[in-house]
Amino acid sequence: MTTRRKFLQLGTLASLAPVTKLFGYTPPPIVSKPVVISTWNFGVGANEEAWKILSNNGRALDAVEAGARVPEGDPKESSVGLGGLPDRDGRVTLDSCIMDEFANCGAVACLEHIVHPVSVARKVMEKTPHVFLVGEGALKFALDNGFKKEKLLTKESEKVWKEWLKTAQYKPVANIENHDTIGIVALDDKQNLSGACTTSGMAFKMQGRVGDSPIIGAALFVDNEIGAATSTGVGEEVIRIVGSHLVVELMRQGNTPQEACEKAVQRIVKNQPKKSKEIQVGFLALNKNGDYGAYALQKGFTYAVYSKEVPNKIFEAKSYY
Ligand code: ASP
Repeated sequence: MTTRRKFLQLGTLASLAPVTKLFGYTPPPIVSKPVVISTWNFGVGANEEAWKILSNNGRALDAVEAGARVPEGDPKESSVGLGGLPDRDGRVTLDSCIMDEFANCGAVACLEHIVHPVSVARKVMEKTPHVFLVGEGALKFALDNGFKKEKLLTKESEKVWKEWLKTAQYKPVANIENHDTIGIVALDDKQNLSGACTTSGMAFKMQGRVGDSPIIGAALFVDNEIGAATSTGVGEEVIRIVGSHLVVELMRQGNTPQEACEKAVQRIVKNQPKKSKEIQVGFLALNKNGDYGAYALQKGFTYAVYSKEVPNKIFEAKSYY
């Protein structure tokens, strides 16, 4: 006979049992979409433009391209596109890449005279059998596709370069920067992911130097099943760990976007314990549910988030040091 005491025990156990087990039903994850996140304070302007597309049920790919074009076209931003700081010979050379939800991707590096390398990268993706065009070939392709040849070195950037020539010392300073990149990743209303990345690279770099920014897997990776990631900072260190691909694969293994960014940064520290104290690298990650994370080597890495819950705000990422 079931005593009252036994009955109460059963009742308590039943109420503690997870509903999912009893009925074999797993509730769907809460998805926040659309959402766009991008690197540094200038991410706000980029997100603004991206949001116009995302909030109208637009495609993440269109949103990230539109977003990346904002700092590219702003002559006051000295680390991207027009007005970007030159290499040590005074040449402004731009790097960019873009990737969509089907693993299509395109990239350009060492591209001169074109204000919007991200749009050239998209054309490479859509109109050629290739992924990556560089230098003269990339410029020829851009001109053949209707892009205009323009002077990218502004008076201000030229002044900074001439000042630099007095000492000609190549020493990137974390966050103050003679570098910065816009990396932007988005999840659209159809729950598809895309990303883009664009930069003038490290100021006063050697002629022909290419960083992480145009390299698929290094500064940008998108896997529509899992998530997307992007990076900024000293590109050489990101290339060494194939950073953004690593972040996405860490998410595939069950890490949250935040944990994935942290583990990637820890990998840099492990590889370069001494150097990692002096340089900046930051990662952003966004997963398929719209959950995001950010982490950097040093304090001062900011990023901007635009979603229904977070209307375009700047945050500072946690850091290793
Ligand atoms: N990652 C870029 C590069 O190495 C620069 C930056 O993001 O600051 O060219």
